[in-house]
Amino acid sequence: MNPQLDLLLKIQNYEIKINSIEHDKRALPIRKTLSKIVADVNSLQEAYARAESVVLKIEQTCEALKKNCEINTKRLAADEKKLEEIGNTATPEEIDSLIADIVSFPQIEEKMAHELVTMKQQLEKASQMALEIGKSINQSKQEYDKIKPEYDRQTADSDAKIAELKAAIAELEPQVDKDLLARYRAAKAKINRSPLYELKTNSCRACNTPISANVKNKVASDIFVECEKCGALLYIPH
Ligand SMILES: [Zn+2]
Repeated sequence: MNPQLDLLLKIQNYEIKINSIEHDKRALPIRKTLSKIVADVNSLQEAYARAESVVLKIEQTCEALKKNCEINTKRLAADEKKLEEIGNTATPEEIDSLIADIVSFPQIEEKMAHELVTMKQQLEKASQMALEIGKSINQSKQEYDKIKPEYDRQTADSDAKIAELKAAIAELEPQVDKDLLARYRAAKAKINRSPLYELKTNSCRACNTPISANVKNKVASDIFVECEKCGALLYIPH
């Protein structure tokens, strides 16, 4: 067997072992509980952000309403002053218009006051909701902190094994030709699994496509050859 291919097969073998250990870790019931808590916290945080933005919007609307109230109060004062000043020189139409304006003021004021009350109720509701969501987030986080050490304990051996395998890979990698290693990594990323396949028939074992004459020729002499269909690395031990 070509020593370079032998190194790559060893690396692939270690990577398969790591995958299998990680798969087992994910299958642990406690891991599922933790994942569910994390997912819950994420969706709660989204809900919290939504509630906060509602609170902010209502607060802005309240501010605008208050400003409108102030403007109206000033307008009323100005109208009243004007009415005093114009006295007999004003036309009846001018006086009527001023009076109509002054009379309409309490209605406008009442409407605004009503809107403000409604806004404040909505604000309280939204703030309350944000508070409740915040409490739920804290509870979930506490639960996570309670379970996490047990998860760490259950997976300590697996993590040690993974670290060992990763160290072994790191030791082998510098011994592999850079170009070959790059092709191995690229093929692995492309087919999203272990890329090296021994060519035992006339088909690629990754995608079941019959290999071309070109691939067949190359595989006889090269360390490995990319499958023209899927990109898997095909080799014949020699
Ligand atoms: Zn293929």
